[in-house]
Amino acid sequence: MKIINISYRLPVSFRRIEGNIDVRSSAGGLVSAVLSLKNESNELHWVGVADFLKADYHEGKTRFSSNFALHPVFLDKNVNYGFYNGFSNTVLWPLFHYFPAFVEFKPSHFTAYMQANTILAEEACKIIGPGDIIWIHDYQLMPLAEMIRKIKPDARIGFFLHIPFPAYELIRLLPKYCRDTLVKGMLSADLIGFHTYEYAQHFLTTAQMIAGLQHKQFELLYNNRPVRVGVFPISVDFDKFTNALLDPLIEQERAKLKSVYQDKSIIFSVDRLDYTKGISFRLRGFARFINDYPEWREKIVFILVAVPSREVIRKYIERKQMIEMLISEINGKFGTTQWTPVVYHYGSLNFQELTGLYTGCDIALISPLRDGMNLVSKEFVASRSDEDGVLLLSDMTGAAKELTDALLFNPLDEEEISVKIKMALSMTLDERRLRMTNMRNQVRKHDVLRWGNNFIRELEEVCARKIYPDRMHDETKGMIRRKYLKAHKRLILLDYDGTLAAFQPVPHMARPGQDVLDVLSLLALDPGNEVVLISGRDRQTLEEWFGHLPVMLIAEHGCFVRQKSWHSTIVDPLIWKDGVHRIMQIFADNCSGAFVEEKNFSLCWHYRNSDPYSGFSQSRELISLLHDYLTGANTHIIDGNKVIEVKPAQINKGTAVLHAFNVRDFDFCLAVGDDMTDEFLFEVMQHYDAITVKVGEAGSIARYRIERIESVIAFLSQLPDKL
Ligand code: UDP
Repeated sequence: MKIINISYRLPVSFRRIEGNIDVRSSAGGLVSAVLSLKNESNELHWVGVADFLKADYHEGKTRFSSNFALHPVFLDKNVNYGFYNGFSNTVLWPLFHYFPAFVEFKPSHFTAYMQANTILAEEACKIIGPGDIIWIHDYQLMPLAEMIRKIKPDARIGFFLHIPFPAYELIRLLPKYCRDTLVKGMLSADLIGFHTYEYAQHFLTTAQMIAGLQHKQFELLYNNRPVRVGVFPISVDFDKFTNALLDPLIEQERAKLKSVYQDKSIIFSVDRLDYTKGISFRLRGFARFINDYPEWREKIVFILVAVPSREVIRKYIERKQMIEMLISEINGKFGTTQWTPVVYHYGSLNFQELTGLYTGCDIALISPLRDGMNLVSKEFVASRSDEDGVLLLSDMTGAAKELTDALLFNPLDEEEISVKIKMALSMTLDERRLRMTNMRNQVRKHDVLRWGNNFIRELEEVCARKIYPDRMHDETKGMIRRKYLKAHKRLILLDYDGTLAAFQPVPHMARPGQDVLDVLSLLALDPGNEVVLISGRDRQTLEEWFGHLPVMLIAEHGCFVRQKSWHSTIVDPLIWKDGVHRIMQIFADNCSGAFVEEKNFSLCWHYRNSDPYSGFSQSRELISLLHDYLTGANTHIIDGNKVIEVKPAQINKGTAVLHAFNVRDFDFCLAVGDDMTDEFLFEVMQHYDAITVKVGEAGSIARYRIERIESVIAFLSQLPDKL
């Protein structure tokens, strides 16, 4: 089996230096995580975009040896520009970090983004074989899973997003064709991973808004496949950083630092020069500190390292100028001939310099306005095996969810930054130790190797779960008939709309045909059979259409049961109903063709007769509004087939059957249904070894599938036939 990792960047570069090819491997956490997946029964492969020349690669590749095979993709320069600097970094990056005003959308950049993804998909498919695992990384490759799935439908695909997934309101700003492509692209993976529950939650809302998908315990059904959404906070290679303290080279770095700043407390920060990192707010917070606590002047220094990043993008050039101006202002205003408050370095650090600063500083001040995770904070913690040092961390980072012993602050609040710097400087050694030990335990336990292993294990698990219904072939029908004929007490549970009758423009038009009435009578007249029509319809309609038949009727998804006479299974007063009716009516008034249907225990907003685009988009808004309105109301919102329905939460088709019968009394159970509400029935009935049948093409947990309503009727009519 191959594990094929696909990311924009490759972890290796080939550069010509003075005529020779210099092969350099990067040693980031992701590489360690991927390498740790290697065992005797797999091969590791890495596909990504080359940021080196083809000739240099061919000359140097024999000198590259690692545990993985490298597959560089050489993109045309213009395509790569539109793909990476264009759509990825001037649309997705700012938007997903809540900087919509920084978005510069160009359709040609989106075209380049799709072209690049197509090329990567084709390259990847050249090496994908049966049973291989494909792990796709990050926002540059959101459509890739769908593209690969088209060529390799059975591939096991995981997607991990390394940046935040924002609230739907932000996603909505993308042109419809873009957002649909991105979200459906992600949904084509088997496992979609995020750093935090917040991002996962935003994604699930977006999947409902864009694709009408409702999740069940973070699992969705998309194109007949189960898709799991999981939370995997990425981390760092703990041992590598923790061993740094005693490394002699790093000790030297620390000694240099201490000799230059011997009498001063050191605040340190390092990040790519990016507007999301909140560098200017951090500087203002520091300035506020020296202004408000003058006793600390000349006793403190702020070493700020900004690593060059995306220097061809306008917003990055502007930000650099702004930060450098601010640093000069602060140094000009507060500095003296003996003291420079902010020591600024624009450039990157090697591992020794970086860990020298992590282990030599007193405070790490990390203040992103948004950051999917933020590894610098975890690296700082992992480096501090002396169990000293204080972490000041923005609460807008993913890491803040785990590093709760940091001094957390709002990155926009200069005063809070200033106060927290003071707190950090005055903190006792005991408190510093306690906080650092707690944070180290967290990072040690959840390091990046575990992250990689957890993701792949969960991907394998979700792929192993089979929940595609099998098409019902003649052989299966024969087997079911044999079971039917052998049984003495049979329970037959049938949904109505979409199962025994086709949908009509308005609900009352879907009256049962003679064929339906005949098959129900045929089955119900056998004294060994308990036939139950279990429908979302109201009881009056069911009574009018089926009242004369000896079948049990269950109405409104289980809220009413007719055994000898009708009785309700609901005890709650429906205090939410008037308010929901008003909301639905407003939406019906504003959406041509939509209407509200009131049942005893539920309310439906139908949009089957509306324009498909506006009906669907109004239905998304309605769902989102109802979610908020009904918080704590013990209701369930069903995103049905062109209908949004609100009903009491505790009742569904599954619970209604359990309420009416002791299912164990039956030696043959059959449940047939077509929509989301029938999934509850299937779920319950599968515990009783029932034969569950999904009607139509949509995904389901049912065991079997029948495509068409006519086939359901034929199948039911033939059940009692002798073999
Ligand atoms: N880093 C680097 N070069 C440097 C300084 C730091 O590559 O000169 C690394 C740092 O060690 C960390 C990463 O850059 O692993 C930054 O990750 P983070 O999640 O904090 O931010 P990102 O840059 O991914 O937004």
